[in-house]
Amino acid sequence: MQSVISYIGLGSNLAQPDQQLQDALRAIHGLKDTHVKQCSSFYASKPMGPQDQPDYVNAVVAIATQLSAGELLPHLQAIEQLHGRQRKSERWGPRTLDLDIILYGDEQIQSENLVVPHYGMKTREFVLYPLREIAPELVLPCGDSLVSVLKSVPKNGLEVIRKNVTWK
Ligand code: ATP
Ligand code: MG
Ligand code: MG
Repeated sequence: MQSVISYIGLGSNLAQPDQQLQDALRAIHGLKDTHVKQCSSFYASKPMGPQDQPDYVNAVVAIATQLSAGELLPHLQAIEQLHGRQRKSERWGPRTLDLDIILYGDEQIQSENLVVPHYGMKTREFVLYPLREIAPELVLPCGDSLVSVLKSVPKNGLEVIRKNVTWK
């Protein structure tokens, strides 16, 4: 099977977020039939939703994978679990690790447990700016260019906290 390029959004705001992301990168690179190709800088961002929680660290990685999107999701969820992710009733509450499939090639998926492109990607600065770093020419499956989408999304305090991230 041919590899597909997929973009994964990483986020953490508990238990050493920088280290959580670094470990997650290695775990993603270690998934079967999957390689990390590029990683954005790590960014500090303001929380969405409840504001009484620490700031987040976010990044976006490009992977080449032979897994289908439906196969990839449970692998990413298993990595979240290994990192002590506890799913709570509060939406967008603090978490040790969140791994979201932002894009999977040009596929558009609307199943019960998987929506791709990620439903929030066009409005989230902590997805769009890291994505621009590694894929400045990207055009979304809907036909919009990443650059045009970014024009209406302010940085909201987003700042680079680590460059030249490695995963090997
Ligand atoms: P948000 O989805 O708004 O970023 P969240 O990441 O905190 O919130 P989770 O608790 O991580 O939400 O995931 C909730 C559910 O979202 C998961 O059980 C998963 O099945 C579903 N889901 C749908 N589309 C995706 C996607 N593209 N990537 C990851 N999970 C997804
Ligand atoms: Mg999320
Ligand atoms: Mg998630």
